[in-house]
Amino acid sequence: MALKDIIGHEKAVKILKGFISRERIPHALLFAGDDGIGKRLTALNFAKTLNCDGKDGGGLFAGAEAEGADSEQTDCCDACPTCHKIEKNSHPDFFDLSPEGDGGQITVSVIRQLEESMAYKAFEGKWKVAVIDHADRLNQSAANAFLQTLEEPFENSIFILISSRPELILDTIRSRCQRISFSPLPAEIMSSFLMGEIDDIDRNQSLLLSLLSGGRLGYALNEDLLLQRDRSFEVLEQMLMADESGLWQDKAEMEEWFDWAQLWLRDIAVEKATGRRDFLINRDREKDITRIAERTVLPDVLKLARELYNIRSRLQFNLNKQLTFNYSSLLIRKRLGRSDVREQ
Ligand SMILES: [Zn+2]
Repeated sequence: MALKDIIGHEKAVKILKGFISRERIPHALLFAGDDGIGKRLTALNFAKTLNCDGKDGGGLFAGAEAEGADSEQTDCCDACPTCHKIEKNSHPDFFDLSPEGDGGQITVSVIRQLEESMAYKAFEGKWKVAVIDHADRLNQSAANAFLQTLEEPFENSIFILISSRPELILDTIRSRCQRISFSPLPAEIMSSFLMGEIDDIDRNQSLLLSLLSGGRLGYALNEDLLLQRDRSFEVLEQMLMADESGLWQDKAEMEEWFDWAQLWLRDIAVEKATGRRDFLINRDREKDITRIAERTVLPDVLKLARELYNIRSRLQFNLNKQLTFNYSSLLIRKRLGRSDVREQ
């Protein structure tokens, strides 16, 4: 793909193309926005555009010469060997860094190694580009080391920091990066795109996927969202019946469940408050939502949403899975209390 294929981030892409047409490329950029939204993809295609050798439309400043500022022609060809190598992360002037493992950090040795590689003149391309994904996970010493590099940037090199939690990045690093913000895609735009990408999907399904993914195209395309969502509802029902077989398998599933629970409670609250099907996110599960909504009152639904939200925010302290499950089940039965459970 190329910059022109990036969906829904026209503003960000325009700014990046502007750098190229004005021949002023910042030494450090910060791509900020939710996970799964297209930040890394944009960074990759910007790196391709900076170094592309293609004749038609590609190549650094090629478009600028042909068409002037903000040219539509400023893009990579996505066909030359350079584009292919960057795409496959095998280009000597392109570095793609991310922390190892779940919740892992980027260490100082990794940063030092990167800096050494960036200090040399570009081998093949015109620009050395380093993408640092999850840049908020630079640990203290790595961040300090990186700061020195930003203070004395190398010639023709660019660092692209990517983060969904930019507020956790050291102020001094942030202030040296030009920030480019990425927002979730509007449901309508995303839904039309999904219909073109996925076989056998109708308008309702694609709209549902767009809403469930929260406008994050990466999630909608890669994760089995519908399956996850249905599983989360199953667990909610098991909790309502004090059935412990729904216990989450691991911490990741536990965290995800709390996020899904908020979505279900949102729909139950909307059903209670408005009774309108077209306001629901999970429109295809309206019957299930109504069934639960009928047995509770709105203040209890809202209270439960707050309670589960509070538990979710404490999960980082390694709460015991079984105890968390039991306690959450108790709250769910108390607030959404089905009459058959209450009578037991
Ligand atoms: Zn190319």
